[in-house]
Amino acid sequence: MAYLGNPKETIAVLQKYGFNFQKKFGQNFLIDTHVLNKIVDAAGVTRDDLVLEIGPGIGTLTQYLCENARKVIAVEIDRNLIPILQDTLSEYDNVTVINEDILKVDLVKLAQEENGGRPIKVVANLPYYITTPIIMGLFEQHVPVESITVMVQKEVAVRMQAGPGSKDYGALSLAVQFYAEPYIAANVPQNCFMPRPDVSSAVIRLRVHDDPPVKVKNEKLLFDLIRASFNQRRKTLQNGLGNAQNLHFTKEQIAAAIEAIGLAPSVRGEALTLMQFAALADVLDAV
Ligand code: SAM
Repeated sequence: MAYLGNPKETIAVLQKYGFNFQKKFGQNFLIDTHVLNKIVDAAGVTRDDLVLEIGPGIGTLTQYLCENARKVIAVEIDRNLIPILQDTLSEYDNVTVINEDILKVDLVKLAQEENGGRPIKVVANLPYYITTPIIMGLFEQHVPVESITVMVQKEVAVRMQAGPGSKDYGALSLAVQFYAEPYIAANVPQNCFMPRPDVSSAVIRLRVHDDPPVKVKNEKLLFDLIRASFNQRRKTLQNGLGNAQNLHFTKEQIAAAIEAIGLAPSVRGEALTLMQFAALADVLDAV
């Protein structure tokens, strides 16, 4: 089987199997070797690594991963791609393909069984319709992960990396940065994919923190506060938290907490750092 990663080989495989793209699965296959090398480099994959690939498609990135990793587990939802993957990956004995929805796989168990519970690397050209559930699922289920290097919509990559004061800063920035350090490794134009997506893309690497950068007594409250603050972006933090359905603090308690962490009553949520949200959560948790 030939190396994929260029338009000619990709078209040959698609024609051989009469494959039809499924839009509902976010299928945009990579056809640019430069980008493929960039992803593997950014992920820093070595012979020690167990790599989880989400959505291998016809196996283009998978081939690159198999060349560099100790073992690759590739989870693909579309059963029409399974016979193709058996063909395109036939030369590799270090890959297992699982035909399943990634959101239904017990990844903690998989890391335990396949890597003795040691941290794995996640590398993928993600299906964009489920970028956030996939990434937040990895974090929140405490899957042992060293890094997540993924192609995402450019706008999403920018939001993940944004800091306070930026228009792109929001709940996603804070959630991602609580668990990991983001780094945008490359911007990727539409013509690197087949079919061409409607949006620009970027490769982002999230290096998972050994310890979270902030300590907070009640993690759920921290994230409830963050979500409530950004749900009503134009409002002051005080009003945003006061109006939130799932928070039950009085206006006075909220005002006192904002004052206790040294912020002005008129402050907006988008001005707060992760550390300030954590301080606020600790004060309100003690109320
Ligand atoms: N890795 C290939 C490449 O770069 O050419 C394909 C990437 S394509 C953007 C996304 C892939 O994820 C598709 O193969 C699609 O079928 C698969 N996919 C979509 N939803 C999925 C899910 N819930 N679980 C596993 N795979 C999924």
